[in-house]
Amino acid sequence: MPLDHRESLFRRIAARRDELVALTRDLIRIPTVNPPGDVYTDCAEFLGRRLAGRGFAVEYVRADGAPGDSDRYPRTNVIARVEGREPGPCVHFNGHIDVVPAGQGWTVDPFEGVVKDGRVYGRGACDMKGGIAASIIAVEAILEAGIPFPGALEISGTVDEESGGYGGVGHLATLGYFSRPRVDHVIIPEPLNVDRVCIGHRGVWWAEIETKGRVAHGSMPFLGNCAVRHMGAVLHRIETELIPRLAAKRTAMPVVPEGARQSTLNINAIHGGQPEDHGGLPSPMVPDRCRMVIDRRYLIEEDPEEVRAEIVGILEDLRRERPGFDYELREVLAFLPTLTDADAPVVRAVGAAIETVLGRPAAQVVSPGTYDQKHIARVGHLKDCIAYGPGILDLAHQPDEYVGIDDMVHSAQVMAMAALSLLRREV
Ligand SMILES: [Zn+2]
Repeated sequence: MPLDHRESLFRRIAARRDELVALTRDLIRIPTVNPPGDVYTDCAEFLGRRLAGRGFAVEYVRADGAPGDSDRYPRTNVIARVEGREPGPCVHFNGHIDVVPAGQGWTVDPFEGVVKDGRVYGRGACDMKGGIAASIIAVEAILEAGIPFPGALEISGTVDEESGGYGGVGHLATLGYFSRPRVDHVIIPEPLNVDRVCIGHRGVWWAEIETKGRVAHGSMPFLGNCAVRHMGAVLHRIETELIPRLAAKRTAMPVVPEGARQSTLNINAIHGGQPEDHGGLPSPMVPDRCRMVIDRRYLIEEDPEEVRAEIVGILEDLRRERPGFDYELREVLAFLPTLTDADAPVVRAVGAAIETVLGRPAAQVVSPGTYDQKHIARVGHLKDCIAYGPGILDLAHQPDEYVGIDDMVHSAQVMAMAALSLLRREV
């Protein structure tokens, strides 16, 4: 790219710093909390109105019948597209508009967009409304600067990333929105830090294990069969055998943080016995069922079949060894690990732009958890996709989540430069 184009672009973006902050605050003030999927349509229409006013063709796509979709909570996505002067590749910026619930521990209003010490605070500031705002300012600056480009630029705001993305990117991918020839390169401004290119994520397998027993009076447990004690036996095997084995499985994927550069397992939930939610004491019963949801994150070097077989092996062993033990295993969710080629055009373009803007080399990383790249890779069959955005990964989903204003400005400069070099096939 000619130096004067680049300099004018960077100057324009720096000059729009206040506008970038205002846009981030406006987005935070639309509390798109998921679950349940509140005010998605308000947020999609807010983005659509802004971009339509700047010459984009805007479409809304509701994921009818997707998990959680209803007239009260419609899964409304927005896609905006602007064409260049002649045919060419398309660069797409995709951001999820949903945020996780605020939770406890905030020292500021999570939906006010408080600006303090060079940061914007709020639920979604980091993950990922600050990233959406930066990508919008980047694209608008390209248009405003009048720099000619072939092809097209797209921006989408999609729902439900925090709950699997089926009504968002997953739905749009089945309709062809994330496939060639419509789109060639995708950048997802998830919070992976301003100087890092995220090329993929670990695999995920969630399963619900249910142990079975038989009810009896709590004073005579020997007459029943306690499902909670059976689950205790499962937990003991997980604790003493499986978790140490997982910790020994290391990956060549550059996963951050360092603690996630191995296989992991979390117990997401466990439920057993009579509920106490009526305000009294639970009735004296031997529990006849106990349910546990496990969250297994695995490496590209691991076979997904093996991930399942490790758990089935423990359960089958117990069925043989432990009197009265019976179980059911249900798969809840499964996504394969995803990894973009470290030498793919979008990786090189964003890497070079980071080096130009920040004056230091870009790091390549892999995310510990999944994000919408999985749908783009598996459903859209589009490989040239990364996550890159201004948020700090460790702040995602935390109380007092924030995004740094300098980081937003820098990441917008990186996104604008990378998009132009991809459109002009300069990488
Ligand atoms: Zn996110």
